[in-house]
Amino acid sequence: MPKTEHWQWYVEESAPTEQHHHAISQVHFAGRSEFQQVAIVETPVFGKMLILDGDTQSSQHDEKIYHETLVHPALAGAADRSEVLILGGGEGATLREVLRHPDVARCTMVDIDGVVVDLSKRYLPEWSQGAFDDPRARVIIGDALAFMRDNEDRYGAIISDLTEPLEDSPSNLLFNEEVFALIKSRLAPGGVYVLQASTASFHNASLHCKMARTLRKHYRYVTSFVTYVPAFDTDWAFLACSDRVDLATLEPEIIDTYCAHLRGENFFYDGMTHRRLFSLPRYLRRMLAASGETF
Ligand code: SAM
Repeated sequence: MPKTEHWQWYVEESAPTEQHHHAISQVHFAGRSEFQQVAIVETPVFGKMLILDGDTQSSQHDEKIYHETLVHPALAGAADRSEVLILGGGEGATLREVLRHPDVARCTMVDIDGVVVDLSKRYLPEWSQGAFDDPRARVIIGDALAFMRDNEDRYGAIISDLTEPLEDSPSNLLFNEEVFALIKSRLAPGGVYVLQASTASFHNASLHCKMARTLRKHYRYVTSFVTYVPAFDTDWAFLACSDRVDLATLEPEIIDTYCAHLRGENFFYDGMTHRRLFSLPRYLRRMLAASGETF
């Protein structure tokens, strides 16, 4: 191993005064698409990593923690899984996880950035594992907001795997009251909307709480769930929204029965992990309960 001073480093900030340094062993791609700065690098601990606008999107060695968590609680709670919509999802791992369920007849993925999707197919095939070629996959390169405005199809589950809604991000316009109402109108009865919903670190959970508070105006149940994602070096939060079921109440036995139907084996998620995901620390429950800013 080279000495630390000889490495190139990818530095991600979780606060202006906190940084995680990843040593880079290889740069596969670095450039700009029409929508964002894109990098694919390789690191000794995490393997390949996709970085957009300086933010880690996923890493080869722990992406299953993120993608199984994003997809399976939602599919387990959905009344009908035949039609699923993914907003974003560039790498194709969310698509891969959805298509592992045999009930899924069609999964539509809409990502705005064809460059990210093409680079993922070329450099990150371990993520999609053939999902882009599955006949049940319909991959559309376009703005997810425009897609939902133009298409009135309904889905048993809508999975938002978008970049963080930062000011100059192409996902920013998908996080507001009007769009949350539009998304709800595209859910079939008994449908579940789930979203990757930012960090839930004790010093930086305000965006997550803002999303939760806004979504509560639209759904009977809006439930946060959280897991530590090593490549992000922080607790990462998700939100499950439904009028029919609070996903936190699904018993481990129900989840294990659901998992037994999936093609292949899970790396992370099962009944016991489900219970852990939905057991929030007290400080976060208090932050979520407090009144505050909405979108
Ligand atoms: N795991 C990720 C994270 O932690 O933020 C999200 C993964 S995925 C790579 C995010 C995708 O959202 C990107 O491929 C990006 O192109 C896509 N995206 C951003 N804005 C979008 C929009 N308006 N419509 C469709 N896709 C969008």
